[in-house]
Amino acid sequence: MNYLWTMSMKKISNYINGRSTAPVSGNYLDNYEPATGKIYSHIPDSDQEDVELAIQAAKNALPLWKALSMRERSNYMLAIADRIQERAEELALAESKDNGKPVKLAAEVDIPRASANMRFFASAILHDENASYQSDDDAINYSHRSPLGVVACISPWNLPLYLFTWKIAPALASGNCVLAKPSEVTPYTAFLLGEICQEVGLPAGVLNIIHGLGAKAGRAIVEHPEIQAISFTGGTSTGAAIAKSAAPRFKKLSLELGGKNATVIFDDCDYADMLSTVTRASFSNQGQICLCGSRILVQKGLYEQFKKDFVEKVENLKVGPPHLSESKLGAVVSEAHMNKVLGYVDLAKSEGGSVLCGGIRLIMEGEFKEGWYIAPTVIEGLSMDCRTNQEEIFGPVVTIMPFDTEQEGLALANASKYGLASSVWTSDLKRAHRMAHGIEAGIIWINTWLLRDLRTPFGGVKDSGVGREGGYHALHFFTEEKNVCIKL
Ligand code: NAD
Repeated sequence: MNYLWTMSMKKISNYINGRSTAPVSGNYLDNYEPATGKIYSHIPDSDQEDVELAIQAAKNALPLWKALSMRERSNYMLAIADRIQERAEELALAESKDNGKPVKLAAEVDIPRASANMRFFASAILHDENASYQSDDDAINYSHRSPLGVVACISPWNLPLYLFTWKIAPALASGNCVLAKPSEVTPYTAFLLGEICQEVGLPAGVLNIIHGLGAKAGRAIVEHPEIQAISFTGGTSTGAAIAKSAAPRFKKLSLELGGKNATVIFDDCDYADMLSTVTRASFSNQGQICLCGSRILVQKGLYEQFKKDFVEKVENLKVGPPHLSESKLGAVVSEAHMNKVLGYVDLAKSEGGSVLCGGIRLIMEGEFKEGWYIAPTVIEGLSMDCRTNQEEIFGPVVTIMPFDTEQEGLALANASKYGLASSVWTSDLKRAHRMAHGIEAGIIWINTWLLRDLRTPFGGVKDSGVGREGGYHALHFFTEEKNVCIKL
């Protein structure tokens, strides 16, 4: 089934104090549709003044929100989850228009997950437990958790509503009021979330959504003295800038940053399963998932066969307008990003790499001819220390490289400043454990990829970030834990 590719041009607004609100300055930014390369909406160019309004609204709402019972907070969140489900088709189309991803992907993954995030934390808050310690000297200690106050959630463009709700949900469930900023590149579903909050009657000021540039609106949020904690997902250099500003103010920080994930394939793996999953792990969402495997390491005995079969499979991946159900890849998110990704293909060639397939911009027909499409690209013949293998490309480009022993595979996997995720393909159980324990990354998949249980810790090591999201890790991040000691 193809999707209907229509949506009227719209001026979107901030969501502050329970209402759709125009930016104080009256200034707007253009918002582009990657599939056609055309402007299709305008978003507030928010600044300090808009942030002040949102901070005031959040502070006013805080006493009421944190005084609600957990069940009452949970009910509001369940209502939001239901409404996301009811408006799923419209949200999927909006996500695709904004981001360039296939509508089918947004409909099957992004939007259901946004609803699931709300539902998961609405339930988790009801099932949390606190530690208690019976002491020898006739005393009992217990932990008491309280919300932090007004917190910031800042998210990127690759999985817009999915990651936006992944942060907002635990913050709200824990009793905080939130200032949230989506990426200026993909603001649309966040705007629709503001509408949904109004529809379900979320109390005014509990959630405030500010649109605009990172260096202006984002910066005003993270530097604001009333912001107690910042949960950020985005690029490593932005994370470093936020950490620098937050450190002297002693704000709590959770940073989910860039990656350059290794896929390690041993010659005893289940070949057919590996081949189809590794293709997905390389190019889903045009390779723009922080968890995509972009450095594929293949044991020597399997290398030539893998190279032949993988390239054939990748050449058959259909790139096309996002509304066509046959399109496996849509457009990349912006013209600047397309040029950056293609620049890395040129760099790879200059570093001695051979492009086995892809490596070029694709031109579609009709209204899509100015869209930003890239053929999925496989490159071989590079050393691990070259820039192509060390820097995050974040697009439909992977490198493949042979290795000999397990030790060499492990060393190559770890030869990166990043450490977000990795997937390992082997039928040897002991080796799977050895690799899982040896790889420097926060998330390891064995014989699978992107299989997620929302209770598990999620996050990176090295330059991929600090802190863990997921389950109680995220809920507890948004609380202050206090010890209470009672003499019996
Ligand atoms: P980005 O760092 O440019 O922007 C992310 C968000 O931060 C946006 O909302 C942006 O407006 C805001 N921002 C920018 N500068 C800011 C500042 N000085 N102060 C406050 N906010 C600011 O990242 P991006 O290009 O939107 O996203 C791509 C990056 O995100 C990639 O590096 C990718 O690996 C990473 N990512 C990581 C994860 C993860 O879980 N680790 C998940 C998805 C994406």
